[in-house]
Amino acid sequence: MTHLQLFIWSVALVSSGQLSLIARYLLWPRIHRITHCPWCWQEVGIGNEYPAPWSSTICAFHDRQLRTQSAARRLARQRAATATRKASTVMHHAEGVRG
Ligand SMILES: [Zn+2]
Repeated sequence: MTHLQLFIWSVALVSSGQLSLIARYLLWPRIHRITHCPWCWQEVGIGNEYPAPWSSTICAFHDRQLRTQSAARRLARQRAATATRKASTVMHHAEGVRG
C-alpha cells in the first residue's frame, strides 16, 4: 500500500466517522422524542409498559394533537361560560322587570 492510498483511506475513515457523529447529533433528539412519547406507546397499546425511569417527552404529532384538543376544550368552556352569564343576566333583567 502506498502512502497516498493510506492517506486517502484514513481521510475517508475520519470523515465518515465525523458524518456519523453529526447525523447522530442531528437525528438523536428526534428519535428520542418519538421513542419517549407515552402517547405513542398508549396508541400502540403498550402504554402500561412505559419504563418508569424514563422522562416523558412528547412527539411533534401528539404535541399538535393535544394542543388542538385543549384549544377546543378551552373554547367550549368559554362558550359555556358566556352562555351561562348571558342566561343569568337575562334572568336578572326579567326579575327586575317583574319585581
Ligand atoms: Zn407521540
